[in-house]
Amino acid sequence: MSIGKILIANRGEIAVRIIATCRQLNIKTVAVFADPDRHAKHVQMADEACHLGSANLADSYLNIDKLIAAAKIHQVDAVHPGYGFLSERAEFAEALAKHNIIFIGAPAEALRLMGSKSAAKQTMLQADVPCVPGYQEADQSTDTLRQAAAEIGYPVLIKAVAGGGGKGMKIVHQASDFDDQLKSAQREAKNAFGDDQVILEKYITQPKHIEVQVFADQHGHVVHLFERDCSTQRRYQKVIEEAPAAGLSDATRTDMLNAAVKATQAIDYVGAGTIEFIMDGDDSFYFMEMNTRLQVEHRVSELITGVDLVAWQIKVAQGEPLPKKQTEIHESGHAIQVRLYAEDPTNNYLPSTGLLERVQLAVADHVLVDSGVGTADSVTIHYDPMIAKLVVWAKNRKTCIKRMQQVLDESAVFGVKTNIGFLSHLLSTKAFLKHQIYTNSLDQGELAYLPSLSPEVVAIYADHLLSTPGSARVWDRANGWRLQGNQPLQLQLFHQGTEHHFTVTWEDDAYLINGQDHYLPGPQDRCHVHRHQVQVVHNHLRHEFSLPDYEAKASVADANAIIAPMPGKIIELKVKDGDQVRAGTTLVVMEAMKMELELKAEADATVKAVHHQANDQVQAETVLVDMEPV
Ligand code: ADP
Repeated sequence: MSIGKILIANRGEIAVRIIATCRQLNIKTVAVFADPDRHAKHVQMADEACHLGSANLADSYLNIDKLIAAAKIHQVDAVHPGYGFLSERAEFAEALAKHNIIFIGAPAEALRLMGSKSAAKQTMLQADVPCVPGYQEADQSTDTLRQAAAEIGYPVLIKAVAGGGGKGMKIVHQASDFDDQLKSAQREAKNAFGDDQVILEKYITQPKHIEVQVFADQHGHVVHLFERDCSTQRRYQKVIEEAPAAGLSDATRTDMLNAAVKATQAIDYVGAGTIEFIMDGDDSFYFMEMNTRLQVEHRVSELITGVDLVAWQIKVAQGEPLPKKQTEIHESGHAIQVRLYAEDPTNNYLPSTGLLERVQLAVADHVLVDSGVGTADSVTIHYDPMIAKLVVWAKNRKTCIKRMQQVLDESAVFGVKTNIGFLSHLLSTKAFLKHQIYTNSLDQGELAYLPSLSPEVVAIYADHLLSTPGSARVWDRANGWRLQGNQPLQLQLFHQGTEHHFTVTWEDDAYLINGQDHYLPGPQDRCHVHRHQVQVVHNHLRHEFSLPDYEAKASVADANAIIAPMPGKIIELKVKDGDQVRAGTTLVVMEAMKMELELKAEADATVKAVHHQANDQVQAETVLVDMEPV
């Protein structure tokens, strides 16, 4: 059966990514969307689109009936579920099969088996795949669980059988806490998954999360596409992923890849899958779970192997054999992915919603940007606040880290808070460079991120301000660069809710901030400006502050005068004494802080007196034109 048209039962970057491969394969695509996604990128990119319903997930992306109806109306051959949503839902695969529509995913039995942490572990133990020592039986009485925890030995991890995304997981450090933590895990599991069963595991104290990409076809072939290290996590959510895993011995690596293939064979799997292992400080590794779908981080495996995993998924779903044998799959170089989120790392990573006023992501060779949103789109409360995945390839890990930092530092997002600075900072920590980040490092408060408004930062901003066309910096034969007329630059900046004043002067080829602290910006320093918001990048730390909002001030109405809202230069005076003007007419154009401002008449008026002329420098609050409303 050849697939000619695919409905993508997903949204955002993964829908966009799947459409890209379909285009290359000459397969038609159908996008589906909920109300907030009416104008989304994935809808615009697909050949056809189908509205599902409201923002409520049960009414749209999780509604099996509506998706089947859409698939039938648009006469698709297959449905690709992406990741999340219905990608691991056995009932969805079965419902599609009933209507003779191909599910581009794992067989329903595998979805069901691996969807239960207890059944998955029991299966893997039978297949001789190493598992974390623990308890995964049906008896869920508190006494039995407490007893099992004692036998495993503290610390113990409680996990929801139906769990995912770290929900329903609790670490218990001592026996006296067990009953309370169990209750809390059960409650969370019941709420999130409608199932309060749990398993217990030995809590690994210095864990690395290493997973293997596997692939199987309908003819019994299974291969791996090497491993990924996803240890950089926050609250069990991956933040940075890379391939291959650094610091893994050849022997351990071979054992792990073989174990992953064995695990996949043990369940007669078909399609793309991931075997997740947890690795202890002594290099022993254990099966944690299998993800029966494409992963968010699949791109890093693609970049080191040159394989398009979505293309393979489609081929395998069509019944074709795997395009390559194990011996034909090679890896080359190193790849890193970061997840760029709309969240505030300085405020407990609170998701940040709102309009994306500007999204500027640096593109370059060997850099992939997967994104479902861009400038003028919004981050809403309805969906995951991921803005983009940035993926970089280089010949080795060190170069790859450097290249990723460069990409991050050259990128900027305005309108919402993001973790972009935090990501770059993480990549520059010794812990990351030495691959000593464990899955709990971030949650334990290591690697904190607290950028401040230092003289260096002010100097970089001043340099940016002064080196732009029309600026106040001039080249003086005798003295080199200097501020025009040796006028000190007065800066009023707002940082973390506080107002700061700085006087900047240029002396001895460096900036003097408030009379001290010489600093000369370096080539790695960057300054991103959007309206009155500023982001300065110095040593891979991103410092955010804002200027007074002159544009807002400029719109404060005064019918009797035109008043300079900020210090700056007059570019043009469009009126003279005695002129009659209408409300809304631009009377004065002025420039300061890299911005041009048009000052308009508030009401129909007669110009009484013009006090300045073009090129005059004026202070804030200066009356430029007197008016008499008519
Ligand atoms: P979920 O299905 O909720 O994502 P996982 O079983 O995949 O749960 O575990 C999520 C994360 O929790 C892992 O990536 C790892 O960081 C941590 N984790 C899981 N099991 C253990 C364990 N036994 N000891 C320590 N950390 C663990």
